Amino acid sequence: MSDRCYRSELIGLFGYPVDENPTVVIMEAAFKALNLDYRYNTTSVKPEDLDTAVKALKAFNMKGTHITVPHKIEVMKYLDHIADDAQMIGAVNTVYLKDGETYGENTDGKGFIISLKEGNIDIIGKHVVILGAGGAAHAIAIELALHGVESIIIVNRNESKGRELTSRLNTYSKVKTEFVLWDKIFSIPSDTDLIVNATSVGLYPDKSKPSIDYNTLDKSMIVCDIIPNPPQTPFLDEAIKAGCHTFDGFSMLINQAAISFKLWVGEDAPIQAMREALKKEFDN
Ligand code: NDP
Repeated sequence: MSDRCYRSELIGLFGYPVDENPTVVIMEAAFKALNLDYRYNTTSVKPEDLDTAVKALKAFNMKGTHITVPHKIEVMKYLDHIADDAQMIGAVNTVYLKDGETYGENTDGKGFIISLKEGNIDIIGKHVVILGAGGAAHAIAIELALHGVESIIIVNRNESKGRELTSRLNTYSKVKTEFVLWDKIFSIPSDTDLIVNATSVGLYPDKSKPSIDYNTLDKSMIVCDIIPNPPQTPFLDEAIKAGCHTFDGFSMLINQAAISFKLWVGEDAPIQAMREALKKEFDN
């Protein structure tokens, strides 16, 4: 006889499509580093099955799940509780269970802010340009606004999505906002402190870069690209050429996963082990 526990704690990732998402690599590295009997399961969930999949979290007594494209907005209607900032962002990327109830959080923007803090970047009073108005742009814009930036310009091709984000910023914060329709090459205003590429331009296998006038980059500007694959994008290459301080998408990916990890496991994430695992995965 043995009193060993043969049951592992379960965490999911619900998306569709989801096969190419590498988050399992960093999460499994974290469990191994802390010697935890947890499993992170990348799960293909079709939109019409999302309701059932969320119910399954309770039925399987899971710790929670990451939520990715295209479920981040839709999932909100199936959850018992939603954190205030996830409500402001209008999307959830992390669900955890407590006392049998589901809680929705959004750790994307928080992970981005931690990356800047790790780089000793002070964002209070800064002027920001965000390229894109999708889910990630929403999370980053709201968190930057809540953390005291002075102004945010949203640049996007799709006007209604861009205006929806600026109106959200006006509703939930005092940040000065402006929407710029991205129908021609965008020139970065000279007083910009921080530029964020939150579009999917440059995501593998795309090798293009956002349509901006790269001559308007100045070495005083901090340039971030949230594309995680490849971490060094053509956009960041241009920023480095212009002498700018840059941040890549790896740090945001790790930091958002680390916050989610703590919500699920209750312990600080072993960030160094996670970073090394991701680097090894992409170096191969
Ligand atoms: P969405 O699909 O919600 O948004 C995509 C955005 O990219 C939209 O604003 C879209 O503009 C814009 N876009 C797409 N193609 C172009 C183009 N050719 N020119 C100009 N704009 C374009 O995606 P997400 O916000 O969820 O993700 C965006 C990127 O961020 C992805 O590459 C994703 O991998 C990355 N990401 C990284 C994370 C990290 O931790 N590092 C976390 C989350 C996301 P329009 O509205 O006009 O179509």
